[in-house]
Amino acid sequence: MNICVYCGSSNGNNKKILDLAQKFGRLMTERGHNLVYGGSSLGVMGIIADSVMLNGGEVVGVIPENLFSKEVAHTGITRLITVKDMHQRKSHMAELSDAFVAFPGGFGTMEELFEIITWNQIGLINKPVTVMNIDGFYDSLIRMIDHAVGVGFIKPKNRAIVQTAESLEECLDLCENNQ
Ligand code: AMP
Repeated sequence: MNICVYCGSSNGNNKKILDLAQKFGRLMTERGHNLVYGGSSLGVMGIIADSVMLNGGEVVGVIPENLFSKEVAHTGITRLITVKDMHQRKSHMAELSDAFVAFPGGFGTMEELFEIITWNQIGLINKPVTVMNIDGFYDSLIRMIDHAVGVGFIKPKNRAIVQTAESLEECLDLCENNQ
């Protein structure tokens, strides 16, 4: 499978997240999966890409031309695809991928996560989306989603689009089981 990972372009300050990012790269490679991501060499993005490459997996990065220097495009991956803009980046990543995982990250990560949820919601795609909840990072986001269900803005059937994993193994199980 090609697994798309959305994650921070910076490191944050919780070492556990970086350790698990590295382990995830190894584990997904051991389970025969390839990585699709945003093509940066920085932050959690760079750590996962390096780990997949180090463990003999394939990595495809998709980066907009104007971010090439700002996000320091990763030139040591299997294939780096340059696209015109952010919208092309996201649609290209979605086309290439069979499943989506959100590791901890900032606005960029959350924007990508919510877009892929909504693409599933309106039926543009039908591919599993899993939030990797390291150290409770996504607890409050999940609470917000459940609150929106309670207030009637998200249908329970659409709530089910967002899966939550508490371990790396569970995360990969959820990606694989929904194929
Ligand atoms: P962040 O989580 O903010 O560190 O960003 C993670 C990644 O998301 C970075 O590669 C950003 O360039 C990317 N990103 C931010 N906004 C968007 C967007 N609107 N569309 C696609 N990627 C984005």
